[in-house]
Amino acid sequence: MRWPQKPEISVEDVMGACTAWLTKKQWLDLIDRLPELTELEERYRVAGEAGQLLSLLTAEFQSQPKDADKVRLGATYDSALVGGGGRKLYDAIKAAATFGCTICGAGQVSSLDHHAPKTIFPLLSLTPLNLVPACGPCNQGKSNSFSTNPAEEPFHPYFDDLGTARWLYAEIHNVAGGAVAEFSVRPPANWPEVKAQRLRHHFTKNKLGPKFRDETPRRLALRRRRDMDTLARSGPEGLRADILEDADSHAAFDPNAWETAWLYGLADCDWYTAGGMKDI
Ligand SMILES: [Zn+2]
Repeated sequence: MRWPQKPEISVEDVMGACTAWLTKKQWLDLIDRLPELTELEERYRVAGEAGQLLSLLTAEFQSQPKDADKVRLGATYDSALVGGGGRKLYDAIKAAATFGCTICGAGQVSSLDHHAPKTIFPLLSLTPLNLVPACGPCNQGKSNSFSTNPAEEPFHPYFDDLGTARWLYAEIHNVAGGAVAEFSVRPPANWPEVKAQRLRHHFTKNKLGPKFRDETPRRLALRRRRDMDTLARSGPEGLRADILEDADSHAAFDPNAWETAWLYGLADCDWYTAGGMKDI
């Protein structure tokens, strides 16, 4: 996964950009809460950098849903940050995700997702560190629940590091004359167990296997003719080497992009390299 840098925008910048909306709604007294939101933003940053974000959120879990300004903060997010004067800040955070959705790495970014759901953590509704770029399906598919189970903690693109070792794999199966890709994760052996559990949870909860699988037919169609030519010219081993070279090139950019895993899987598929693509 290639993740963007932390936004340099603060909750104070966001509140400043939303002032016109707050005035219009006579909700200007929400600005009185800025010192509290700024203090929470700093605690969020420190906890995130220390790998303690779950502890912070668990501690806040009981009090925030009952916050008196929950509705006003949510409305300010929807109307002023997404749809009003704060839109340029919203777009700037989105635009930082040059390499796509921070949850799947496959879809195009279309919105910001609240890492800690705003219905449960309203005081983080407007905090840029809590806003992560996501594609539509990932954002919509995410539930607004919060788990205190460390094995289910979602990865945070501004704080987590998934390393450069491979953990995403694909096997290509010949099914009824077609090629179906089955994706899976194998956490590196040197990862702590809880990180491995989080990766498996991330993969399953966000339905990444089916999502990646559905990306592959078009990509396969695009390389089919070239692979047939390579096979005719260089034989199965030549084709395998050619696909592997492509896979290595993708891996140099992102060892765990779905395309990388798929190309390694394709190179490893005897049916395909022996000419299976002719049947597709
Ligand atoms: Zn996505």
